[in-house]
Amino acid sequence: MGMKAEDDRSETEIRERAGEPDVFDDFLTGLMDAMETTNCGGDFKNSRQVLTTMGLSSDKQAGILKYMEERGGHCDCGILMNVAGDIIRDSEEKRRASA
Ligand SMILES: [Zn+2]
Repeated sequence: MGMKAEDDRSETEIRERAGEPDVFDDFLTGLMDAMETTNCGGDFKNSRQVLTTMGLSSDKQAGILKYMEERGGHCDCGILMNVAGDIIRDSEEKRRASA
């Protein structure tokens, strides 16, 4: 675990990081891999597993899943269908803008 400030990252900060590659890219890549070998159970079971593997605290996991839900990702496959494309597009645009 990092320093305390890292662990206490607020939901707003998570939101601001939505366009950044690191956390969301790792999460979406992990979820895509997981969903290749399992079906969506209409919940966030696979998402939680990926976030736990990434070492995120349950508070951070809740913030990320809330963010996904607000953007139309109401379950594992909903995140991939409704949110993943937007986030990947956002992060590519940001990367291009800062290049
Ligand atoms: Zn689903």
